[in-house]
Amino acid sequence: MDDSNILNELLTNGGLFVGRSWARYLVVCGGAFLLFWVVFAKRFAHRRCQSTIPERKVLVAELKNSLLGIIFFMVPSVAAIPLYFTGHLELIVDPAATSPAIMVLSFVLFVIGADAWFYWTHRAMHDSRIYRFTHQLHHLSEQPSPLAGYSFAILEALVLGLYLPLVLLVVPINRAVLGAFVLFFSLVEAYVHLGFEILPRWVARSRIGKYLGTSVFHNMHHENGAYNFAVYFTWWDRMFGTIHPDYTERYEQVTAERLFRRLPPEPDPAKP
Ligand SMILES: [Zn+2]
Ligand SMILES: [Zn+2]
Repeated sequence: MDDSNILNELLTNGGLFVGRSWARYLVVCGGAFLLFWVVFAKRFAHRRCQSTIPERKVLVAELKNSLLGIIFFMVPSVAAIPLYFTGHLELIVDPAATSPAIMVLSFVLFVIGADAWFYWTHRAMHDSRIYRFTHQLHHLSEQPSPLAGYSFAILEALVLGLYLPLVLLVVPINRAVLGAFVLFFSLVEAYVHLGFEILPRWVARSRIGKYLGTSVFHNMHHENGAYNFAVYFTWWDRMFGTIHPDYTERYEQVTAERLFRRLPPEPDPAKP
């Protein structure tokens, strides 16, 4: 493939990747924002992770920074396209070429790997020597909304986006698995920045549930950046002593009432 064709591929695929990611962000994170912060904000108010509500200008900044963050998040994947054409990076494009069992297994392993990548790079970005120009932007939201899902500064977006092509350099994965992962990623980003907890109360103390990264778990990280660095699971934080000591108690406080609780009757204006 000559240089002009490669440039063509980069521009076409770059535009496609960013366009699809913007659409996914607007539907998933924008949809979650509309549901929880606008339409049903009162209905679910008893499940708010924090009592403060951010100013409108913070929400607008989250939207703007996420739309920009997505562009840089996609750069490593676009930059890896020439490696695909030279055979250094392998992607299985035929969905029928991989058995369903391998698809499920590779998805699970990919998520476990993404969690490790996120925990360690995120923790490194909290180092005071590099924090300001890598990760401070994401922490502008002390009480995040789902609009902050991709609110990453340029360097942070590049580091996070590097995970996918790095894995493909080592092991070929079916494109369908990657498609499922990018959708899963946006759902997780919307959930952990939701500002509300939607999972049941027993999760934080159950044998398996306690290892799940919840909305309360990541919300506490936005409140205090010294704890809770992982997103998908809590095991790295548990192993390395960075889990917030009050996490379980806070989780149970936020989820004390059921998500779909019976609403108290409206006062009758006709009665004195
Ligand atoms: Zn966050
Ligand atoms: Zn952080």
